[in-house]
Amino acid sequence: MYDYLIVGAGLYGSVFARQATNAGKRVLILEKRPHIAGNIYTEEIEDIQTHKYGAHIFHTNNKKVWEYITHFADFNNFINSPVANYHGNLFSLPFNMYTFNKMWGGDNTSRGYGYN
Ligand SMILES: Cc1cc2nc3c(=O)[nH]c(=O)nc-3n(C[C@H](O)[C@H](O)[C@H](O)COP(=O)(O)OP(=O)(O)OC[C@H]3O[C@@H](n4cnc5c(N)ncnc54)[C@H](O)[C@@H]3O)c2cc1C
Repeated sequence: MYDYLIVGAGLYGSVFARQATNAGKRVLILEKRPHIAGNIYTEEIEDIQTHKYGAHIFHTNNKKVWEYITHFADFNNFINSPVANYHGNLFSLPFNMYTFNKMWGGDNTSRGYGYN
C-alpha cells in the first residue's frame, strides 16, 4: 500500500518522492521513459555528458539547495564562451577587441587591450 503515486521521475517527482520517503511515506513512481531525471537527463557518450533533451544549466545562490542537489549527483563546471562562425572564420561573442582585430587586423595588446 502506497501513500503517494507519482507520475514522472523528473526533478519534481524525484524530489517529492525523496522528501516524502524521508518523512516516512511509501511512494510509487511511474515513469514512461527508460531513465529517471526527466528533461534534465544526461547520458555519457564517448566520455562526454550529453544533455539528451537540450542543454541545461543549474543556477542557484542558495547554499541549502546546492548542498541538497549535489548530494545526489556530480555537476560539471559551466563556462559560457560562445563564438560565431562567419564564412568559416570564428569570432568571439559578444564582440570585443579580439573580434575587431580579426576583422580589420591590427594589434591592440600594446595599448592594454586584452585578448580572450
Ligand atoms: C531544452 C530545455 C532546456 C532547459 N534548460 C534549463 C536550464 O538551463 N535551467 C533550468 O533550470 N531549467 C531548464 N529547463 C527546464 C527544466 O527542464 C524543467 O524545469 C524541469 O526539467 C521540470 O522538471 P519536472 O519534473 O517538472 O518535469 P520533467 O523533467 O518534464 O519530468 C516529467 C517526467 O514525467 C514523465 N511523464 C510524463 N507523462 C507521463 C506519464 N503519463 N506516465 C509516466 N511518466 C510520465 C516524463 O517522461 C518525464 O520524465 C529546460 C527545459 C528544456 C526543455
